[in-house]
Amino acid sequence: MEAIKKIYRLDSTLAESLKEIIWRYVEKLRKEKGIDLVKIMNFCGTHEWTTVHYGLRSLMPQGLDLVAGPGCPVCITPSYYIETAIKLSMEGVRVYTFGDAYRLPALKPVKGAGSLVEAKALGGDVKTVYSFLDAIKDARKSGRTSIFLGIGFETTTPSYATPIAEGKVPENLLFLSVLRLTPPAAKYAIRIAIERNLPPVQGVIAPGHVSTITGAKPWHEFSLETGIPTVISGFEPIDLLLSVAKLLKMIMEKRVGVEVEYRRVVTWEGNKRAKRLIGEVFNVVDAAWRGIGFIPDSGLKLKDKYWRLDAVTQLGLREPSREEWSYDLPKDCKCAEITLGLAKPTDCPLYLKICTPDKPWGPCMVSLEGTCAVWARFGGGGLALDLGKELGLI
Ligand code: SF4
Repeated sequence: MEAIKKIYRLDSTLAESLKEIIWRYVEKLRKEKGIDLVKIMNFCGTHEWTTVHYGLRSLMPQGLDLVAGPGCPVCITPSYYIETAIKLSMEGVRVYTFGDAYRLPALKPVKGAGSLVEAKALGGDVKTVYSFLDAIKDARKSGRTSIFLGIGFETTTPSYATPIAEGKVPENLLFLSVLRLTPPAAKYAIRIAIERNLPPVQGVIAPGHVSTITGAKPWHEFSLETGIPTVISGFEPIDLLLSVAKLLKMIMEKRVGVEVEYRRVVTWEGNKRAKRLIGEVFNVVDAAWRGIGFIPDSGLKLKDKYWRLDAVTQLGLREPSREEWSYDLPKDCKCAEITLGLAKPTDCPLYLKICTPDKPWGPCMVSLEGTCAVWARFGGGGLALDLGKELGLI
């Protein structure tokens, strides 16, 4: 207990010092550089979770805006894939999915089911699993034609690529790839803010776990290309405070490139074996993001040599092309703007009214990495904001 208290005291002292540094930098940027507003985007849903859960925004001074970015793979999974999975499950194909995609609302209900959980309730064959390996084991045992809904970013991809490359996936288990890549989406979000004449992003907090696989190099290239300082951060509150302080220093010094705050895990080159396996199994393609549309070079598809495992080829699916893509968010849902850092959950008229964690209307209210779900569960506006206003505190 004493040890825990000691760590807590140490951390709270450190947090206070970092807060002080952040405040001083923001003041310096205002006075010396004439920058009245600094906008920093965290890419990752887990960073948003830490920010909200620990109330880090309440420690920030005026003139520093921390915004969430596109870092929730469940939120950006196009409705087409959910609708397809629902349909297949109701036609006798077993669908394996992670728990967070289980409740993801589709745009158009299929045979009365608006999500995989509803499909299961209506007799669809849907199984939630903790990993691709669990699905492999189950599919071997059952022998049934099955698909795995392969959602995720670079962090999850090696767990799919490894058994595929090693020939461990049985013939009856097909893979439906909805894999997406993070740096192209970050670039897109930055460009959109500029195009819409909104305050531009001046610093990026890059995802720590993604970078354990990719290494720091792609984020360095991202920073050089966009001219935006970037820090790869860990997930503790102290990691994030330190990353914000580092970014402010880089902005002050007009320095681009990447700094790695999450040094205990992230290296320059990343996990070479995982990257080799990903390159062996997948091709990089232009891909659709829910509510946003196609982003160049932002998706992964199985290579032709794995056609036997490809659900698209084997089941004759027709993924929408760039020309056929149409807006796929439910009415009034602002997930696309929230995902691109252009709006906050409290800007959505449905937030905590029609759309709640128990009954999500849009995809950002489902997963614990979704900005709306995190804000709804741990604060960051909504009821807390209303109450604060009522009491004259805000
Ligand atoms: S509160 Fe719900 S409807 Fe509104 S943006 Fe978030 S997920 Fe979409």
